[in-house]
Amino acid sequence: MPNAQTHDIITLVTAAGANLVYFKLSPDPKPSMAVLFTATYLFAGYACAGDLDLNSKEYQRWGPLRILWWPYKTFIPHRSWMSHGLILGGLVRLCYLAVICALIFVGGLSCYAWLTHHSVDSLAVTKDRWFSLVGLMKARPYETTALLGGFILAGTTHSLADIISTWYKRRF
Ligand SMILES: [Zn+2]
Repeated sequence: MPNAQTHDIITLVTAAGANLVYFKLSPDPKPSMAVLFTATYLFAGYACAGDLDLNSKEYQRWGPLRILWWPYKTFIPHRSWMSHGLILGGLVRLCYLAVICALIFVGGLSCYAWLTHHSVDSLAVTKDRWFSLVGLMKARPYETTALLGGFILAGTTHSLADIISTWYKRRF
């Protein structure tokens, strides 16, 4: 499989290519959508792609926050469909990140309630915020598509690069 530097270059080049295609083919291209897609694509490509299932450069880029990905790295088998599935790999990481964010939110609220002696139903507040987020996503379908598309397609590009590289090495 390509090394981290090659994956980084592939991410950068394909992000530029996706923007070229978008501005060339879309009947009404919106720069804000391109920025959203590109920012998410680069973030996912550099820090949230398939090799988080290893002690990889992506994993190290999280710095002290890499502890958040420790369960993922430990329990997801390397190059399995859960990390390197063309679409499912990105979806699994997105769900994982959503669960981690929800747990941090619940934990933070619970700590706040405990420290300030306030009565806060952390789970109910988190559930409420989650439904607000889903409502926002429904109200902003283009932005949501750009964000989700950028996140998932970065994983797809990573996995395709691994597949092509492995195929090439076996064949030649
Ligand atoms: Zn990989």
